[in-house]
Amino acid sequence: MKTIGLLGGMSWESSLEYYRIINETVKTRLGGLHSAKSLMFSFDFEEIEALQSQGDWQEATRLMVEAARQLERGGADFVIICTNTMHKMANEVEVSIGIPLLHIADATAAAVKAQGLQRVGLLGTNFTMTEEFYRGRLQQVHGLDVLVPGEAGRQVVHDVIYGELCLGVTKEDSRAQYRGIMADLAEQGAEGIIFGCTEIGLLVTQEDSPVPVFDTTRIHAETAVAYALRDE
Ligand code: GLU
Repeated sequence: MKTIGLLGGMSWESSLEYYRIINETVKTRLGGLHSAKSLMFSFDFEEIEALQSQGDWQEATRLMVEAARQLERGGADFVIICTNTMHKMANEVEVSIGIPLLHIADATAAAVKAQGLQRVGLLGTNFTMTEEFYRGRLQQVHGLDVLVPGEAGRQVVHDVIYGELCLGVTKEDSRAQYRGIMADLAEQGAEGIIFGCTEIGLLVTQEDSPVPVFDTTRIHAETAVAYALRDE
């Protein structure tokens, strides 16, 4: 079994999910007392969020690269970044380490295609929903058609992530708003909805969407386990 290196703490609420899913999946695959070999570098998210909102991506990249190198030095065989947004610097991280990085958008696109879907709605932070590093990758690298909510909807999705979900808060009102936004996307032709933020699954589930959902946390965690156990 390979050792999984996790860049976590963004937020820790979702890193807990990664840790749980990864260990549960290894247990299901191998049985008995088996659990995952892993290392986590867990950031102080207050510091990361400050850099994001100031647009200081250079410093954020420096911190991410340093943490990934620490995971490599600690014995990780490969790395996963446990947030969609911080894949903004995935390329810089990848070229700075000598071990593979499993990209969350690649794992998610593979899951979408495995279900034969072409047009998907994407929910996440404003960075994820609008920028090339994520939306563009799904479109250009994976050939998917990606729909995102209009500006007002995007702001709701974004604000709920930082103001509630990353603080461990889930509100019925926000759940209802997310439901409405997913219904709109489905009406516009989305055949599936990507939960492109690792906390969204803490608020809504398949039952809240009229079309199949793709929870990036679960998909990414399960992809990491498949890779860790590839040679077993
Ligand atoms: N965990 C979230 C994501 O998947 C947002 C927090 C962050 O900005 O990293 O994008």
